[in-house]
Amino acid sequence: MLIVMSSSATTEQIAAVRDRIRDLGFTPNEIPGAVRVAIGVTGNKSALDPALFNRLAGVQEAVAVSKPYKLVSREVKPDDTVIELQGTAIGGGSLTVMAGPCSVESEEQTLTTAHHVRRHGATILRGGAFKPRTSPYDFQGLREEGLRLLARAREETGMPVITEVKDTETLELVAKYADILQIGARNMQNFSLLEAVGKLGKPVMLKRGLSSTVKEWLMAAEYIVARGNYQVILCERGIRTFETMTRNTLDLGIVPLLRQITHLPVVVDPSHGTGVATAVTPMTRAAVAAGVDGVMVEVHPDPAKALSDGPQALTFDMFEQLMQQVERVRQAVGQPRAS
Ligand code: PEP
Ligand code: MN
Repeated sequence: MLIVMSSSATTEQIAAVRDRIRDLGFTPNEIPGAVRVAIGVTGNKSALDPALFNRLAGVQEAVAVSKPYKLVSREVKPDDTVIELQGTAIGGGSLTVMAGPCSVESEEQTLTTAHHVRRHGATILRGGAFKPRTSPYDFQGLREEGLRLLARAREETGMPVITEVKDTETLELVAKYADILQIGARNMQNFSLLEAVGKLGKPVMLKRGLSSTVKEWLMAAEYIVARGNYQVILCERGIRTFETMTRNTLDLGIVPLLRQITHLPVVVDPSHGTGVATAVTPMTRAAVAAGVDGVMVEVHPDPAKALSDGPQALTFDMFEQLMQQVERVRQAVGQPRAS
C-alpha cells in the first residue's frame, strides 16, 4: 500500500497517518525524493483495503501495491533513484563507468590501473580486497592492506571506490574505506548482511545471485531498502545456465524490464557476465544500447599475471577502445554521461 499525501498536508496530518499505520501493526516508510510526501506501508501479510487510509485528513489517495517487492518498485516511487557521490551521480539516465582490477594485488597494479581508467573516462574505481573465491586455496585478497591501496588510489585520482563486503564481521572495516559497498553474487541472499548494509546507509551495489530470478533479486534489494537505505544499485553479472562457452550467461533482456519495474539504478558487469576478455567490449556496447545506468568492467595491466579473473580482464589498450566505443553508442542512443 502506498499513501500519497496531498501537497497541502500538514506535519501533524502526516504524523497521524504514520501513527495509524503503526497502530494497525505495520511499518510506515517515507519515500524519499517524491514531490509530495508519500508513505509506503510494509509488514502486511495480505492486501490492505485503501479505505483504511483514504479518509484520513491530508491523504490524497491510498494505492494498493500489487508486487511482493514494494519499496523498490516503481509503483511506490515513480521517479528514478539517483545516487550522488563526490562529483558523480549514478542513475537517472546518466552512464557511469566503473573499472579496475578484479583484485587489488599491489600498489603499482592498483595505482597504474586507477590512473589509466580515470584518464579514459571511468568515474568509479573498482577493486576487490576481500575476495569470495570458489577454492579456499586461491588468492583471498589483500584485505585491509587492499582497502588502504584503494583509498590511496582515490586520493590520487579523485575517483570514489567500490569494493566487496563479504560478511558482517568485516563490514565496519570495509565501510570505513569504501564509497560503495558491493554485495557479491554469492551473497545476494545473505540476509544478515543485507540488513546490516541497510542500517548503515552507505550506497550498496547488489549483484544478482548466481542462479537467482529477478524477483528474488528485487526481494533481496527490498531487505536493504526496508531498513531505510534507498541507495541501492542493481548489478546484472550473468546467471548460470547450461552454456559453458561463457562463464555465465549475461541476461541483458531484463534491463528494459527492470527499468519498468524498479526505480533503482541498473548496472551491467560484462566481465563476470561473459568471463571472456574479447566478449567484454561487445557486450558493454550492447548493455549501453539497452539503456543501463552504468557498466562495471575488470581491467589489469598484465591479465596473464592476474591473481584472479585474468581471462576476463581487459588490457589497458582494450579499455581505451571500449571507452571510445561506449561513447559512440551512448551518443547514438542519446544518453547523457555522468560527469
Ligand atoms: C567481483 O566483482 O570481483 C566478483 C566477485 O563478482 P561476482 O560477485 O559477480 O562474482
Ligand atoms: Mn572478478
